[in-house]
Amino acid sequence: MLRLAPPAWQAIAAHARQAAPEEACGILVGRHEAGEWLALRAEPCLNVHPGDRRRHFLIDPERHLALQREARQQGLEIVAFYHSHPEGPCSPSEEDGRMAHPWAPMLIVALRAGDVAEARAWLWQQGAARAIPLAVAP
Ligand SMILES: [Zn+2]
Repeated sequence: MLRLAPPAWQAIAAHARQAAPEEACGILVGRHEAGEWLALRAEPCLNVHPGDRRRHFLIDPERHLALQREARQQGLEIVAFYHSHPEGPCSPSEEDGRMAHPWAPMLIVALRAGDVAEARAWLWQQGAARAIPLAVAP
């Protein structure tokens, strides 16, 4: 299960709405314990994809590294990644699969008419994406 602290979820939803019609992307920092990913906070990142950012994203790699260091200093870790699909769907693209980290869920937020419509968490195992339970809870 990927569990989002309510403020983390609020930050993700606000970021997704604000970035539309481009894809928003970011990093979730927290703890991984007892088979559960707990996201304590969301760190919005710049989408630095050189192409069409309405359909693609690339997390600013310098920010990624900085967050990794910062999380470690706080005794936390990067637990998941998120991005939005401004026109839906809530399922991952082939490109998402190529970018996925096997150890971290990918949260996808789908929008409709500029507002958040759906969110799902995905995990890749043996090259296939499967949805994992998602909850917003402290
Ligand atoms: Zn995607």
